[in-house]
Amino acid sequence: SSGRAAPPGSTAWPDAPYPDEDPLTVLTGVHKWYGDLHVLRGVDLQVRRGEVVAIIGPSGSGKSTLLRCVNMLEQPSSGAVLFKGRDVTDVRVDLDRLRSRMGIVFQNYNLFPHLSVLENITLALRHVRGLGKTAAVDRALSELERVGLAEKSGAHPGRLSGGQQQRVAIARALAMRPDMLLCDEITSALDPELVGEVLQVLRDLAESHMTMIVVTHEMGFAREVASRLVFMDGGVIVEQGVPRDLLSNPQTERLQRFLSLVV
Ligand code: ADP
Ligand code: MG
Repeated sequence: SSGRAAPPGSTAWPDAPYPDEDPLTVLTGVHKWYGDLHVLRGVDLQVRRGEVVAIIGPSGSGKSTLLRCVNMLEQPSSGAVLFKGRDVTDVRVDLDRLRSRMGIVFQNYNLFPHLSVLENITLALRHVRGLGKTAAVDRALSELERVGLAEKSGAHPGRLSGGQQQRVAIARALAMRPDMLLCDEITSALDPELVGEVLQVLRDLAESHMTMIVVTHEMGFAREVASRLVFMDGGVIVEQGVPRDLLSNPQTERLQRFLSLVV
């Protein structure tokens, strides 16, 4: 929980309608320091509805920190982060509501081990969305169906494969009906044979026009599914563009070197 109370009158945003053509997320001049470590060094990024933005870059380049600044899991040290037109660093923003509008999925699933698959999904539906029990269960089951796991609803996460757990984590985020999904290397901890089933869920979501920011090492996925590829190095966006162009014709020596190491 954010530890912040929702201010009076703030209930409409971020659930209220917002123009389709306006960018969902706008980052301007975002810097992040951890003590003396300057991790984000002026990042500008806009994400529009329906875009699938893949972020690539070397380990330690600030990809996770950037993603965490988008939904305020980290507070930017300076710069602006807007979501649906509003500054999310405003202390009056209800962070639980904000995050329910941009689900995040991590490398290590982060499911609650003591809850069933179904309960993992209904928890926030009931407490953040305020759904009644029946409505929450119905919605959870339909999201589990979408990721092909309806028959696992009663199981505990420890009984599932890594790929199945990751699909539950995605279903949990989707159940909140987010405007955007953030994925941080969600296939990196999986055995190779389980990567495909998770990427397939992301492909399906992309086809249904879900807006996504996906930090990934899966270059094939980035090339085929992303509408835009963003290359980060040293806390800045070094290059961005159409994936095929960027991958076949990198403009900077840094991206050339990175691609020669990963592809
Ligand atoms: P990436 O996801 O691209 O690997 P990160 O955003 O995780 O990069 O990290 C960027 C840099 O910030 C790294 O040097 C990392 O050690 C450092 N870092 C990340 N999170 C923290 C933190 N909470 N406290 C201190 N340093 C951090
Ligand atoms: Mg990372």
